[in-house]
Amino acid sequence: MAEEIESIQCPCGRVIEDPEDYKVVYLKHELREIDILCPNDSCYLRELGYIRFDIVEGKAKFKEASFYPPFVTWNSGRLGAEKAEVLLKDHLKRIAKRVDWERLGRTEEEAE
Ligand SMILES: [Zn+2]
Repeated sequence: MAEEIESIQCPCGRVIEDPEDYKVVYLKHELREIDILCPNDSCYLRELGYIRFDIVEGKAKFKEASFYPPFVTWNSGRLGAEKAEVLLKDHLKRIAKRVDWERLGRTEEEAE
């Protein structure tokens, strides 16, 4: 049985089947932006996307999330634009679910 390429892959070669694999780091405090990083430590792209949020009454609230063009284009080329979009959207949704929004809100309060 021929196995079809069904998984999201980083241009560095790392296959990302499970959205749990992404590294999520919060460094850009002023921008209220969370970076989505490739699980491969020696990846030349490193940043694959971002999640932005607002602080409303001390609580972090999801604003938008997106992957960067090199990552999207790479996967569209491999899987087809439609399929890549569906898979990537699902990944973003699941990454956003992993974020501890309550804790994020508290961190922001302490920083101010
Ligand atoms: Zn990579």
